[in-house]
Amino acid sequence: MAATEESLRRNLAEMLSAVESQGSSVRALKASKAPITEIDAAIEALNRLKLEKSSIERELQSIVSGNGADSSVTREAFRQAVANTLERRLFYIPSFKIYRGVAGLYDYGPPGCAVKSNVLSFWRQHFVLEEDMLEVDCPCVTPEVVLKASGHVDKFTDLMVKDEKTGTCYRADHLLKDFCKDKLEKDLSISAEKAAELKQVLATLDDFSAEELGAKIKEYGIIAPDTKNPLSDPYPFNLMFQTSIGPSGLTPGYMRPETAQGIFVNFKDLYYYNGNKLPFAAAQIGQAFRNEISPRQGLLRVREFTLAEIEHFVDPENKSHPKYSEVVNLEFLMFPREEQMSGQSARNIPLGEAVSKGIVNNQTLGYFIGRVYLFLTRLGIDKKRLRFRQHLANEMAHYAADCWDAEIESSYGWIECVGIADRSAFDLKAHTDKSGVALVAQEKFLEPKELEELVIVPVKKELGLAFRGNQKNVVEALEAMNEKEAMDMKAELESKGEMEFYVCTLEKNVCIKKNMLSISKEKKKVHHRVFTPSVIEPSFGIGRIIYCLYEHSFYTRPSKAGDEQLNVFRFPPLVAPIKCTVFPLVQSQKYDEVAKVISKSLKVAGISHKIDITGTSIGKRYARTDELGVPFAITVDKTSSVTIRERDSKDQIRVNVDEAASVVNAVIDGQRTWEDIWSSYPHHSEESEE
Ligand code: AMP
Repeated sequence: MAATEESLRRNLAEMLSAVESQGSSVRALKASKAPITEIDAAIEALNRLKLEKSSIERELQSIVSGNGADSSVTREAFRQAVANTLERRLFYIPSFKIYRGVAGLYDYGPPGCAVKSNVLSFWRQHFVLEEDMLEVDCPCVTPEVVLKASGHVDKFTDLMVKDEKTGTCYRADHLLKDFCKDKLEKDLSISAEKAAELKQVLATLDDFSAEELGAKIKEYGIIAPDTKNPLSDPYPFNLMFQTSIGPSGLTPGYMRPETAQGIFVNFKDLYYYNGNKLPFAAAQIGQAFRNEISPRQGLLRVREFTLAEIEHFVDPENKSHPKYSEVVNLEFLMFPREEQMSGQSARNIPLGEAVSKGIVNNQTLGYFIGRVYLFLTRLGIDKKRLRFRQHLANEMAHYAADCWDAEIESSYGWIECVGIADRSAFDLKAHTDKSGVALVAQEKFLEPKELEELVIVPVKKELGLAFRGNQKNVVEALEAMNEKEAMDMKAELESKGEMEFYVCTLEKNVCIKKNMLSISKEKKKVHHRVFTPSVIEPSFGIGRIIYCLYEHSFYTRPSKAGDEQLNVFRFPPLVAPIKCTVFPLVQSQKYDEVAKVISKSLKVAGISHKIDITGTSIGKRYARTDELGVPFAITVDKTSSVTIRERDSKDQIRVNVDEAASVVNAVIDGQRTWEDIWSSYPHHSEESEE
């Protein structure tokens, strides 16, 4: 906890008890009918203490709520202003609105679709094209067997609690999180120690088991927020939407909760397509479905969303990356595990240092963290509100080697937008086991190597006599032993003649005798090695990135008359839903003709644009398109030349009609900057009426 907050909490606690004891003194003086002058002096002292207490409370309030006492109000108002603009301009629409909508489902309207399409095409360019990835497109409906193998059927759950009387469901961790945040922000009377404890709970919440969550909910007396009824213990709720494939109802399936499994099950073919070479990456963009327990936070937590996922397959013995040097010097906010546990904040760390010190597990993971940073900041995400947070030990799946989330700060707090995980060989092994198809890679040696190979030969006759119907399970378990297990068994059988051996598929120990198998090591010349590749998976929640981009791009500025605030999205041209508008200054046939000529050249150049030939004042037309984040406006005020206005500076230049499209194209393409254009053309100083 920051020293000032801690000392203020301590001062406040002391002041509260001083006020209380002075209050008792005043009451005692009054009861003993002390002289009036004495009582007045005591009351005056009490009022002084109360004033001091209020001043500490104000100071503390301003610290705990961030940037000032009313920052949460400001945050809420800001969010509302963004949401109003987005909904009014049809960036998004609550789905099925005329039927009162469904929580967690949203449509994208025309500008929203255009932004999404721009983000996705930049994603394809930045990742798929740049890294020669193999893109695939797999179905959303997935048979149960696939998701059983991946572990989703058994483990893709969130912990839920139910209102014991009404049955309303809540996400257990969200209730605890809200409780802690509320207490910290609104209850100034809690001690410094309690505040530190609540902060620790917030920092480590993702690490809590069901039992720990349940215990904390009980300890803090958390009840159902809507009804104040008691809550059940937390229990897992599977987030997948279940369905059945075909009319018989006999083939269970699910709507995929992620796109990754489609890539894993195609590994064998993709590896072959790639010339049987590693490393390589496959990518997929598509819809994912999660039946979120209580969707809230608008577009951030929804029940159907677009994921863009990369599975980069790599040799587990060599996780270096050939292009690592391109990102090694990047430096940005990182939040390693240890620093979260000890209550510190994220800090700027050079990526190269994070990898060389082993904070980030390996070069390939580091490479993708760097590439994700470049992707997000080029889209327009504010660097200061982007951090990479490492997963805590329990938060990470047991098989994962390391995992980092790109989190973006919005009015809802820090939100995970991209997960970047080294998932080791888990997924390919799981599908190999379940399908019986070996999802493996081979390394061919330049020179054959002499290796000692473990050879386990079960004596089937003896095993059959001893285990009859269970023989197959026992043989499989014996053959699956690793080298150490096998050599330990050999030693024990040689010394004792028999031993107990656990067969997991039978869930019991069996007695293995010396005559039931032979274990040896044989020298062999091998020409290749066969292994299951590890996978590094960056997984992008496109909707979350877009929403954060909306918040980071939004601002208001006063109209020219100063009587209203106008909304602007400062989208970079790359993201802007429409790149340019064309406005004849006044309604006139000759200006309309010029506008049409310019529009034609913009079309030829592939620049999305909009002509507005309504007679509305030019100021209003600028304001309308600023609200859509259109970066450039061409205004036709002559037949030989036109002006081009840049959205944020509102600066205007004058260019010849036949140059207009190419000038706009050059800035949109990134061949030229606006500053460069600004210094090369005459300025148009006439202020537009707004
Ligand atoms: P996960 O597989 O849980 O790591 O999720 C991958 C990415 O999907 C996350 O980084 C989020 O950006 C996004 N995501 C997960 N759940 C949701 C949701 N309910 N709504 C929108 N995006 C989500």
